[in-house]
Amino acid sequence: MNIRRRDFFKVALASAAAVGPARAASNDAVQQAACLVDTALCIGCRKCEEACNRANALPGPDRPADHRTAFCGERRPTDRALTVVNQYPGTPSRDQRHRRETYAKVQCMHCLDPACVSACIVGALTKSEAGPVRYDARICLGCRYCMVACPFEIPAYQYREALAPRVVKCEFCANTSRGPTANPACAEACPVEALVFGQRGDLLRLARQRIADRPDRYLDIIYGEREGGGTCWLYLVGRSPSEIGLPELPGISPARLTEKLQHTVFRYGALPLAAYGALGALMWHSRRREQRADPTRPADTGGRAR
Ligand code: SF4
Ligand code: SF4
Ligand code: SF4
Repeated sequence: MNIRRRDFFKVALASAAAVGPARAASNDAVQQAACLVDTALCIGCRKCEEACNRANALPGPDRPADHRTAFCGERRPTDRALTVVNQYPGTPSRDQRHRRETYAKVQCMHCLDPACVSACIVGALTKSEAGPVRYDARICLGCRYCMVACPFEIPAYQYREALAPRVVKCEFCANTSRGPTANPACAEACPVEALVFGQRGDLLRLARQRIADRPDRYLDIIYGEREGGGTCWLYLVGRSPSEIGLPELPGISPARLTEKLQHTVFRYGALPLAAYGALGALMWHSRRREQRADPTRPADTGGRAR
């Protein structure tokens, strides 16, 4: 059965929301490096994709920026494209009836409490104080738990690299010569300033101001302020986020979900596990007793033929 990562998290996160409240985001989150994506301004030129590939020394996008065929289906980031822009039919907002489509850029959201970091058993992914979620290929085991854990379906894997495949994702350009607190390549390349780089607290204020100034353009939500426990990439939207590829997530981080589930299993699952263990031991002793009583009976081989 092919269950999309996003569908799995919809169910799991709904269960977590019922289990208990989210952990409050750190006060330091206001100072973390962040980016505001204004989907009402984005024109789908894909200059950000090209700039991202250049900054990360990747080959150019499979389809150059002027190839509209790139919009034939919804794309996700890959090992050769850390960010992609998708097109959705329908006007971006009430005041933009002249436009027939909406564009939304996709990349790592640099979550405040990242599920990928929580899932990585060796610490190859880390959340830096400055905001970017970093990856260290020297530590990575290649287990790809991070890919399963991410509710935004972001980390990709270099399946084509036979010798030393890596997990690949946007690191907010912190891995490039720009460093973790500089304007990233994608934001710098955007010709219409649909991408604004800054501190998370400042960008939330800017987003609220834009919403207040243009209620005909924006819905009264900032996607990423709370979704998934909060993210450093924030989105201004003029239509429902789920219509433009942004998953519906409750305000709890998936990392807290797995923690809660583990605690629940240990608290309520320990007793059944102990019972199954005792039952297995009893069955083994019973078979041994029967075998001693009747030496012609084959010994217990653990189910394997001799
Ligand atoms: S979007 Fe996914 S890969 Fe990026 S920080 Fe969040 S959980 Fe990790
Ligand atoms: S922040 Fe850097 S790595 Fe991330 S999408 Fe933008 S250009 Fe690419
Ligand atoms: S460069 Fe700016 S306007 Fe062009 S697709 Fe990227 S975000 Fe949209």
